[in-house]
Amino acid sequence: MSKKVVVIGAGYTGLVAALRLAQAGNSVTILERGMIAGGLASEFTVEGASLERAYHHLFKTDTSIINLANELGIGDKLTWHDSSVALYYGNKLYPFKGPVDLLRFTPLTLINRIRAGLVVLFLQRTNNWKSLQKVSAYDWMLKAAGKQVTAVIWEPLLRGKFNKYYNKVSMAWLWARVHIRAQSREAGGEKLGYFEGGFQVFTDALLKELKALSVPIKTGIEISAISSLPSGKVKIIQSAKTETFDACVATTPSHVFAKLVESNKTLKPAYLQQLQSIDYLGARLLVFSSDQDLSPYYWHNINDIELPFLVFINHTKLIDAANYGGKNIYYIATYVPHDDELFTCSDEQLEAAWFKGIKQIFPDFSAKKVHEKHYFRFANAQHIVDTNYVSKIPAHKTPLSNVYLANFSQIYPEDRGTNFAVRDGEAIAKLIK
Ligand SMILES: Cc1cc2nc3c(=O)[nH]c(=O)nc-3n(C[C@H](O)[C@H](O)[C@H](O)COP(=O)(O)OP(=O)(O)OC[C@H]3O[C@@H](n4cnc5c(N)ncnc54)[C@H](O)[C@@H]3O)c2cc1C
Repeated sequence: MSKKVVVIGAGYTGLVAALRLAQAGNSVTILERGMIAGGLASEFTVEGASLERAYHHLFKTDTSIINLANELGIGDKLTWHDSSVALYYGNKLYPFKGPVDLLRFTPLTLINRIRAGLVVLFLQRTNNWKSLQKVSAYDWMLKAAGKQVTAVIWEPLLRGKFNKYYNKVSMAWLWARVHIRAQSREAGGEKLGYFEGGFQVFTDALLKELKALSVPIKTGIEISAISSLPSGKVKIIQSAKTETFDACVATTPSHVFAKLVESNKTLKPAYLQQLQSIDYLGARLLVFSSDQDLSPYYWHNINDIELPFLVFINHTKLIDAANYGGKNIYYIATYVPHDDELFTCSDEQLEAAWFKGIKQIFPDFSAKKVHEKHYFRFANAQHIVDTNYVSKIPAHKTPLSNVYLANFSQIYPEDRGTNFAVRDGEAIAKLIK
């Protein structure tokens, strides 16, 4: 029987859930707070071309999104590119892609290079991630790889990604990062996937299909409450307006969902506490274009903890600069708590601190030669997967009848990603059917 379903959020989880629900004959409406669809993978224009506000690429193992791209007729737009990785440590950039680079990585003693390699090999080979859930990645690395390897390689990466939570993150999360990367390599070499024309090509293909299925996407609409009615219907509240549906799929972060449903008297406080127990970090990003070709590498891990960013990305080392009027396109990014100065500071302050850091890494860098600059801030960019995480993960089916939750905090032990947004969007649609 056809149902009237509302999907809150037009990120990839919401768009895909809506697609599958509409294909199954339901009458679906998408409500989105922002002005455009795409969520964390949404676009902006730089040098006349579409680009993701947050850097994005795919792995060969990302089969849910690859299959959907094929189904939507844009499989040929997904192209695979050689990647290159560098690590910045002790005022120097080192190539850091595979075992040979690790063996040549002189900041570690020879014995520690071998030890670091063996630890990575173990993580690539083992499937027993469940035994790693309750131990922190930091403690596990200290034991397995030792003090020097942890201090030089793993601690800066964990600090960059998780900030003050660096020593709380579960080893199962780190296992998944290392393991999936290795599986991707086995599935097709060290290639990274990108849509010709940007991820907006995938978003546009979804939007076209949704339009053909008569699914309205209403943007600029922030939902403030969801109530479950005794009849089993679901009431959605936006400012003073209310509307009733047979079912609701919320794709907001877990703590936002807690706020939306807290007025439902039937909900146990423990459920709301569970939703609120998942901490999220924000992200700041600066994208700039320049004629200057700063580095031969695509991805730069910044392992100098004095530098105020986690990663520097030379996007046009993956994708031809010809797509951006011949300019080089760079991202600088970091994840930070909402009360951190790097999250609250102005764009000008951020730029001053970050360009100083870029100048330290690349002494030839000239801010005067920067052509375009774009600044982005995401409030809920990364959740904290701590050693107690398994008990925090909320189920897709919530205690409220006909209200479902799908967001990246439910992806585990893998890290969040567009592939899992597609997978979970499809899974939630099946649950409702
Ligand atoms: C810096 C960064 C780099 C990344 N790199 C990659 C990568 O390389 N590869 C990859 O695959 N993935 C990457 N990701 C992850 C990927 O972008 C996400 O996993 C995916 O886009 C999540 O989709 P989603 O729909 O679940 O959530 P979101 O994209 O967050 O969508 C949720 C939507 O809900 C809306 N919303 C929230 N509250 C309300 C409300 N009250 N009312 C109405 N609407 C609301 C939001 O505006 C948003 O549009 C990256 C993410 C970040 C931040």
